[in-house]
Amino acid sequence: MVNRSRSKPASDLKIAKERIQILFSEAKKRPEKGTRYVYLARKIAKKYNLKIPSELKRSYCHHCYHYFTAENVKVRTNPKTKCVEYNCKDCKKVTRYGYSKEKAASKE
Ligand SMILES: [Zn+2]
Repeated sequence: MVNRSRSKPASDLKIAKERIQILFSEAKKRPEKGTRYVYLARKIAKKYNLKIPSELKRSYCHHCYHYFTAENVKVRTNPKTKCVEYNCKDCKKVTRYGYSKEKAASKE
């Protein structure tokens, strides 16, 4: 019978994770190609149903997928919304990540 399982072999998942890490490290080295590397990393993550690690997720804009460098992002905390705000200077949009105490406490 034909194997119709949608899950990918474990060895492929390991390689896919490694490729995502490599693409982000390359984006750090060559920010001018960052958007392309972010695009490829997201494509791999979608294909293998993987999560992009949270520390890498914060390194690009979630609206225009531009890789963040010191020039094109402004990072501020907002006590009103209890969020860390990433202001993208390319698309002028804001990405928020919460920092409320309850959430951090429940994780531990
Ligand atoms: Zn943007």
